[in-house]
Amino acid sequence: MPSTRIRSGRPAPAPALKRATPAPSMPAGSPRERLTDEGRPALSDKARRLGLETPEDVEREFRDAKSGWSKGTEYHCPFCEKDFWSASGARKHMRRRGHPVLRWDWY
Ligand SMILES: [Zn+2]
Repeated sequence: MPSTRIRSGRPAPAPALKRATPAPSMPAGSPRERLTDEGRPALSDKARRLGLETPEDVEREFRDAKSGWSKGTEYHCPFCEKDFWSASGARKHMRRRGHPVLRWDWY
């Protein structure tokens, strides 16, 4: 006669840790400028991570990084969240939109 005793000594496997990755809340494909509650243009997450909060911060940063600006390999417009890979593309954007495009490989 086989024993029918139920074994319950086995520990349950630990549940896999769920990593809380914040989903990017960026609306995709919208090149329009966002505005903050105060009506100021909102800067990109990238720029905010750098500590830039206002257009004035961007201007200052732009001026500080101006020497050698055209030698950059990566550029970013904090107002449009747009990246550029050449100085000419960045310069064209600045002319067309009047935005200070930051040299991003600087950081
Ligand atoms: Zn722009």
